[in-house]
Amino acid sequence: MISKANSDQKVKTAVFKFTCCAGCQFALLYFFELFPETLELLDFVYFKMATSKELDEPYELAFIEGGISTPEHIEQLKDIRRQAKKLVAFGACAAHGGVPSIKDWQAERSVEERVYPDPLLISSIKVSPVDEFVKVDYYLRGCPIDEVEYMELIRSVVADKKPYVREHPVCVECKLKNNICVLLMREGVQESMCLGPVTRGGCRAVCTTNMRACFGCRGPMSNPNIAEMVRTFKGKGFSDKDIELRFTEYAGLSAEFSEGARAYYGRKAPYYHRKVA
Ligand code: SF4
Ligand code: SF4
Ligand code: SF4
Repeated sequence: MISKANSDQKVKTAVFKFTCCAGCQFALLYFFELFPETLELLDFVYFKMATSKELDEPYELAFIEGGISTPEHIEQLKDIRRQAKKLVAFGACAAHGGVPSIKDWQAERSVEERVYPDPLLISSIKVSPVDEFVKVDYYLRGCPIDEVEYMELIRSVVADKKPYVREHPVCVECKLKNNICVLLMREGVQESMCLGPVTRGGCRAVCTTNMRACFGCRGPMSNPNIAEMVRTFKGKGFSDKDIELRFTEYAGLSAEFSEGARAYYGRKAPYYHRKVA
């Protein structure tokens, strides 16, 4: 439990980055402006993007950004977990592997040879979400994270309350906005290949409101009907390869979305045999 002994005391907080584009850290900086109260509740003792200060004091709350992709990452992550009372996986990369986890669907060496002049100098492993190695107390999903959920989480953590977790699909938020459904509107066009029916809401359907399909960046909703989603896509003329690409873009390592991706990969699909919380 994180406790503030009195109202003047802030929660010591550290932000750590692993494999990702750092866009979610950048969003945190932006949220400071949107929600200045954050800085009255949290004392960031380590946050490389915001300050050059080295980590030289204890912390209670750890924010983890990015997927885990080297043996060193695993040890660093376990050290952070030992120290932190509460740990937040923030962003699609930390929660589900995110865009970097696309490489997990290809032969490791072939990816390394395309990226590095001398792959022998690096020791990367498959990208994994943070909860593959340590317990995660809270998730902030999306690529990047959402400001409303961020502020809800901070208030809940500081008050030691359970934050509101959205179980409904993006479709609910899309319909509440009276959007035209891109999935029903056009046949066989990539922009209409919408994962909204199986993706966890919380982004206020920002993509579909702008006539873009949902790419599933927030990962699977609770108990999604993946088989029906695949059937719908096939009925609209999308190939198995199209379907695999859509399901593996952000959260293909989740048990649910990897099921969708197997439309193309069949038995070769990485499959986690567990539900991502
Ligand atoms: S979730 Fe998206 S924005 Fe956030 S770090 Fe990963 S790639 Fe970047
Ligand atoms: S556009 Fe996508 S999210 Fe919106 S209602 Fe249609 S399928 Fe659902
Ligand atoms: S609509 Fe889909 S892809 Fe867009 S932000 Fe929401 S969950 Fe992510």
